[in-house]
Amino acid sequence: MLDLNRRYDVLVIGGGNAALCAAIGARRSGASVLVLEGAPKFYRGGNTRHTRNMRCAHDAATDILTGPYTEEEFWEDLLRVTGGQTDEELARLMIAESKDMLNWIVEQGVRWQPSLGGTLSLGRTNSFFLGGGRAMLNALYRTAEQLGVDVLYDAEVVDIEIDNGMFLSAKLKQGDGEARVRAATLVAAAGGFEANIEWLKQYWGAAADNFLIRGTPYNRGTILKMLLAKGVQEIGDPTQCHAVAIDARAPKFDGGIITRHDSVVFGIVVNRDAQRFYDEGEDIWPKRYAIWGRLVAAQPGQIAYIIFDSSVRHSFMPTLFPPIECDSLAGLAAQLELDPAALEKTIADFNAAVRPGTFDHTILDDCRTEGVMPPKTHWARRIEAPPYLAYPVRPGITFTYLGTRVNKQARILMTDGTPSANMFAAGEIMAGNVLGQGYAAGIGMTIGSVFGRIAGREAAKNARN
Ligand SMILES: Cc1cc2nc3c(=O)[nH]c(=O)nc-3n(C[C@H](O)[C@H](O)[C@H](O)COP(=O)(O)OP(=O)(O)OC[C@H]3O[C@@H](n4cnc5c(N)ncnc54)[C@H](O)[C@@H]3O)c2cc1C
Repeated sequence: MLDLNRRYDVLVIGGGNAALCAAIGARRSGASVLVLEGAPKFYRGGNTRHTRNMRCAHDAATDILTGPYTEEEFWEDLLRVTGGQTDEELARLMIAESKDMLNWIVEQGVRWQPSLGGTLSLGRTNSFFLGGGRAMLNALYRTAEQLGVDVLYDAEVVDIEIDNGMFLSAKLKQGDGEARVRAATLVAAAGGFEANIEWLKQYWGAAADNFLIRGTPYNRGTILKMLLAKGVQEIGDPTQCHAVAIDARAPKFDGGIITRHDSVVFGIVVNRDAQRFYDEGEDIWPKRYAIWGRLVAAQPGQIAYIIFDSSVRHSFMPTLFPPIECDSLAGLAAQLELDPAALEKTIADFNAAVRPGTFDHTILDDCRTEGVMPPKTHWARRIEAPPYLAYPVRPGITFTYLGTRVNKQARILMTDGTPSANMFAAGEIMAGNVLGQGYAAGIGMTIGSVFGRIAGREAAKNARN
């Protein structure tokens, strides 16, 4: 039984990667630490449970990474995917600190494995967690508990007391009971607001009813909302988020990685009018997979269909749901409830526009269309080998970018620009400092690990002074 009347040095709200890195960092710096995880123990760890890998800079190949990935190359990748919408000082700090993360995370019990193959091609840049995100989390929880970090599950924080930029206490709800916890410092690591459909609707309107949430239903943004309402400076565009195309048959929440489709480059994508709406071959998939959620969100009914043929059915990682298939295009259209004539025409026009080339999905190859709008600029091949196959897809929201502004100590800034006396933030809740828009695979975990570790260390230092 924990004594909630004691005053901890550091209170961490959240139970994912950012929270655990902060808790371990603070405890290793000598602080007493309490972690409040809103989810029950089985569901602990938020979106981190679903992750597979993390992007870290390194100057040379490692046991599991096939070659160097310098700080400068990481920075240039981030600059490109965000279109410059990033805080350069914080981004460069994160990238520099990510180098040490490859070892630090192993020191906390996490193990790496080489990259999975397939369309993401991450073998040089991203380290994969042996056993996936759950195994990674289990290692972090084990280490935290061995170090003496206290953890409460099913402990949703429902109120935070802040006076003039200074955190005083948090009210938590556990079952029917409530308790108030005091601490010298706060680390907010409670994720974004992606699971709060009502909040999403403020920016997306009724379309948000058709969004599927890929991760935890517990990231409802309650802590973010409280902080912003109590004088914390916000960062980021509320409509910006990481969103991919996922199977329309996936559950509303927590479907995880096995519902994501990586087959776009192998076929075409049509909307419910059976019309193509975007260049499926614009750039290599790791640089483009995260735009397809937003593209589908902009289509009528927020639904689209990836259409391909039997020649490529084994060219990408299989997903939970099998493709819908039929020997004729008209029959496929009927199953998808699309106008058969419209689908046949779209595919006939596309096939007629395909120019000869040498197919290679790992490079920007010369297989392209000519005379069709939108073009498919790479990997264009005729769809002509029955059976014809399709995946219905909807926007799958991964995490939102609206967050709390922080400085290089991961210290929260108040609306007047002054640093909070004792509040820090890490992970999704402050991801917008680095990600103004766009995404490159594995950065979510870099943000949580690097800023989590900094927040924990700085909170511990703050508590001692
Ligand atoms: C399917 C999927 C796959 C992904 N794959 C990758 C990947 O391979 N690599 C990568 O870098 N990123 C990936 N991401 C993104 C990644 O999951 C996040 O960027 C990262 O896990 C965020 O960590 P976090 O600790 O900030 O948030 P989370 O891990 O989501 O943790 C937030 C925590 O806050 C808790 N919480 C929320 N509100 C409260 C409250 N009021 N009181 C108490 N607790 C609260 C939640 O229960 C949860 O434990 C993936 C995401 C999804 C959904």
